[in-house]
Amino acid sequence: MSYLKSFIKKYFTHFTYFYIHLRHRIFFALVLSILVGLLDGFGLAMFLPLLEMVDGKGEASSEAMGNLGFLVDGLKSLGLTLDLKTVLLVMLLFFMLKGLAKFFETYYRVIVQQYFIKKLRLENIDYLTHYNYKAFVTADAGRIQNTLSGETERVVAAYRSYFMSMQMAVMLIVYVFLAFLANPQFALLVAFGGIFSNFLFKLIYKKTKELSRKITAVGHNYQGLLIQKVAFFKYLKATGINLQFSERLKKAIQEIENYNLQTGYYGAVLQAIREPITIAVVVMVIIIQVSYFDQGLGLIILSLLFFYRSLTFLMALQTSWNSFLNMSGSLENISDFQRELRKAQEKFGNQKVDSIVQGFELKDLSFSYGNEVVLRNINLKLSKNQTYAFVGESGSGKTTLANLIAGLMPPSEGRILLDGINYSDLDLPEFQKKIGYITQEPIIFNDTIFNNVTLWAEPSETNLNRFWKALDNAAILDFVNNLENKAETLLGNNGINLSGGQKQRMSIARELYKEIEVLILDEATSALDVETELIIQENIEKLKGKMTILIVAHRLSTIKNADQVVLLENGDLEGMGTFKSLINISEKFKNSVALQNI
Ligand code: ADP
Repeated sequence: MSYLKSFIKKYFTHFTYFYIHLRHRIFFALVLSILVGLLDGFGLAMFLPLLEMVDGKGEASSEAMGNLGFLVDGLKSLGLTLDLKTVLLVMLLFFMLKGLAKFFETYYRVIVQQYFIKKLRLENIDYLTHYNYKAFVTADAGRIQNTLSGETERVVAAYRSYFMSMQMAVMLIVYVFLAFLANPQFALLVAFGGIFSNFLFKLIYKKTKELSRKITAVGHNYQGLLIQKVAFFKYLKATGINLQFSERLKKAIQEIENYNLQTGYYGAVLQAIREPITIAVVVMVIIIQVSYFDQGLGLIILSLLFFYRSLTFLMALQTSWNSFLNMSGSLENISDFQRELRKAQEKFGNQKVDSIVQGFELKDLSFSYGNEVVLRNINLKLSKNQTYAFVGESGSGKTTLANLIAGLMPPSEGRILLDGINYSDLDLPEFQKKIGYITQEPIIFNDTIFNNVTLWAEPSETNLNRFWKALDNAAILDFVNNLENKAETLLGNNGINLSGGQKQRMSIARELYKEIEVLILDEATSALDVETELIIQENIEKLKGKMTILIVAHRLSTIKNADQVVLLENGDLEGMGTFKSLINISEKFKNSVALQNI
């Protein structure tokens, strides 16, 4: 019983995964395979009447065909006289029909395969898009990256070999069935031949499988080293480790090639012994049939044809099943990955807020990462178009608070309301379009300055005006004007390298370009020199009163003019008030201000 269970689990978990994605398509493809097999078999069966004619008989009879006699009877009942010409034509017809069926089968397979790949990719993008932020920050970025790229390719390869195996199994069954119809003794010999060859090839398959695993592992290592070589290029070069590092890469290449060579060796052995073994079995079968069963040569030859085909498909089945098993790890990985992502999809409601009327309210809000409480029982009102500064020591929860307000993750306890609407009822993605978020790590896309700032807007006159204004407000207009290609200059890896400060200003320009109502600045100006920081501060100053601004700040000088300062300590809300009033309320704040010489 447990054997049966593990058998079903082993063979049908994968089937279930494919079935969920492809449904009826799987069965339709299999029906086409059966059709190809049957038409081919019927065509082959026509050799028998031909042989009879060679034997000197004028017309074909059904007796000589074993249980396949129905074919001859059927044709006769259609009013056909089975002379040489008719038999040849019928045979031709069967093979032409087979050709047609083969075309549909092959083409349909490609269609289903493309459908599967596309569905998988689109599904993964959707899962990733709606992956909740909290789960994302604790996820393994390497695994996400790898699963969405290389591993997806491997799943597609797994799909290909899985269905190739199914198809081969179908063909095998069809031929065994036909062979059985023609000559039942024969079917037993087919089974014997199958088991015999299976036993022989298993040893080689095992070896190939081991090697394939090794190749994958070394491949991971190689990819990892390569990524690091590119990412740390400057460091490796500057410190003279470049050559030493190259040796490691070369060693990995050597290993991969060695394993590939070994796989090639076993592959060659497999290819070479396949045919002789098949023929050996065929020879044995002929001898057995002629010497012990005293069968007519015609039926033996027909059975042999079926037998030979069966064996061919059996071997093809073994090969494709083996290559499927080699990829099955990737299949398991992707179904686990998708399950995890599905479980951690963000949820949101459908209430829309066209424009903020009053502002935000945080009620008894707490937030934890696992057991670690990061924010505790926060009650806070943030009015529209006011500027708030979140201050506190590093790790006190300032960024987390900003993230919660940005709707990146739901509070563990308590609520966040926007104009009285609970965030959980809000169409958050729609609302988030009104949020500008600038972090310590500036975001620069591999694209032109214009596209980086406008996020691929049409270069219409209005948009261009908005674009130049945003550059001006972010204090980067002069820099861009001095570039040879101006707004069309490429940024990022393929373009010019900006300094940390320039990147930051570019990110700020992007947010200023958008029509936002909330601007979150998370240590946004910390990478800038004092002079640029002052310029940007002045520009942000200009935005004061036009939008709700939340500033997460270390440097207290930057938030002097905030309407309200929110002081956090160890996840607790310590106090709130204007810069001046907070100095009077909080001893801690007073000390921090004194420390920073403000
Ligand atoms: P601040 O912005 O005030 O420096 P944060 O809000 O970034 O503080 O972090 C508050 C606390 O939450 C810190 O103790 C930090 O270690 C913890 N924290 C932040 N992100 C994560 C995370 N992804 N997983 C677990 N703990 C986290």
